[in-house]
Amino acid sequence: MKRQGAQQERLSQSKPSGSHVQSSGVATQVVQCHEPPARVVRLVHEGSLDPTGQTAPPSPGVSGLRCLIQRSLLRLQQQYGNRYVQRTLTGRRAWPESRKPDVAHIGAPTWWQQQSRRTVIQRVLGPPYPFQGIITTRWNAALRAAANRTSRIIADLPRNTRVTAIANSGGWLQVQTTINGVVETGFVSHELVGNAPAAGVAPALAAGGRQEVTAFGAYNVYPDAHRGALQPNELFEAEFRRLRTAWTRVNDNSGGMLIHGAAPDVAEMRAMLGRGMARSQTFRNLIMEITEDAGHPVTINVGRNNAYWVDEFATNKVDLNDTAVFDENPRAGNAWASTQGELIIHWLTERRHGATQGGGFAPAHAAPLAAGGAQEQYRADIGQAGRVVSQERHGPAGGLHAGAYTDNAGNILRIRRDGSGGNPVPYEIRYEPAGGGAVTTRHNRIVAEVRSTSPSRERLKLKITSPAHDVPSPAVDVSAGRPLNFTTPLGGLVPAGANLFVNLYKEGVWILPELLLGITRWAHPFERHTDTISIGGVSYTIAVRLQMDP
Ligand SMILES: [Zn+2]
Repeated sequence: MKRQGAQQERLSQSKPSGSHVQSSGVATQVVQCHEPPARVVRLVHEGSLDPTGQTAPPSPGVSGLRCLIQRSLLRLQQQYGNRYVQRTLTGRRAWPESRKPDVAHIGAPTWWQQQSRRTVIQRVLGPPYPFQGIITTRWNAALRAAANRTSRIIADLPRNTRVTAIANSGGWLQVQTTINGVVETGFVSHELVGNAPAAGVAPALAAGGRQEVTAFGAYNVYPDAHRGALQPNELFEAEFRRLRTAWTRVNDNSGGMLIHGAAPDVAEMRAMLGRGMARSQTFRNLIMEITEDAGHPVTINVGRNNAYWVDEFATNKVDLNDTAVFDENPRAGNAWASTQGELIIHWLTERRHGATQGGGFAPAHAAPLAAGGAQEQYRADIGQAGRVVSQERHGPAGGLHAGAYTDNAGNILRIRRDGSGGNPVPYEIRYEPAGGGAVTTRHNRIVAEVRSTSPSRERLKLKITSPAHDVPSPAVDVSAGRPLNFTTPLGGLVPAGANLFVNLYKEGVWILPELLLGITRWAHPFERHTDTISIGGVSYTIAVRLQMDP
């Protein structure tokens, strides 16, 4: 039986009576149960402590049955989806705060036994290695060269550092993490590593804490004197106050961040910043850094179709329409693709760099993209692997071109755009996984509707034309209350130039196959447009807009 690490030493005070083995790559833990038999809801073999039964078969050499009590199981299921147990599940009153088990991690041969009449689970379980973990210690956790307390320290990992746990050895987890762009492998005492929760989700509230649900995230807040490890979206009181001040400054332009624009756009920008803060410590850190430094203000001139693409370094513009093209959350099936938050952290870091370092666009642009940079950190915060290594335009600015966002695995998010009319309009988004995986596309579609005031039915048809193409709709019987609806991909009309023309025809008039009732001009960048044509006492209202596939 190995005894390694601070947690192990503390635990040894309580005279564990279980036994354990380490099976290959799977969490094992002995749980002694002295609960009355009536409260025991499940007996499990060591090595298969996961109540979902998804972990490995019993470890060789261990035959003892262990128990889960009802309350433990319920909390497991409700809060962690059967994935792991956190903190003490029962017996809270009996354990003084100082001896309460910390958040410890799966894979560690840890047990906790109360000396008196009950002994319960400390915590257990989890998926096989590797799993995504996070440093939960109050200060730093030492990343060591070997699984013991005297080995060389490779680095100090601050709280909330993401690690990939790949194995365990005694009371130590073998982890990988990226430090300044270099992947380092070493050992961290197991109790300093928690499961990385879903982005933005505060874990279960422990005693002494309170919940704060704010526009900049949901947090568990603990007194500064609180003992015990914290997870993402858990903060000490002083940290929470600092964050709240930062948010106030975001909202009243009273610090180092100045947001200008039309009121609804400013409100939307602030809401997006709040969502970024809610998800990511990296994002929160950047917001605090900027807002606390009024001497180096970062300006955000927010609008719609105001920047050529997403943002402009020289003018501090940010284009909400372009930003909205990106996924708000990692997309199922293509979870690697950059999200809105990553774009925001890109240009925020870029502007912060420009404000504090000078040197112009190129070094500022490179900073967030660098290995270990803000984008990679943000991606890790929200559970995305890898990093984006390039964000660049392929093709001429004034014509058909694509913005390509390529990550270090070779996945490409390609946004095809039509710049022939000026500010580019995206017409197709392609998710191109590395290694020739199936490409997923989203189209920007023209959605057209024609309403008529005619009491009788007329057979109407639309034709949408660009300088190079035209797309006719089917002919439809239209009358008051029976509109014509037509949808076609914008991509079928590009290059669309400065204008699209929407032609309305009526069929079966006298000897004519079709009669042109009128034309409405839809100008670049093809925002929502409505026009009414009146002929012979009948009004035809044509409404067109673009709609990106979800
Ligand atoms: Zn940039």
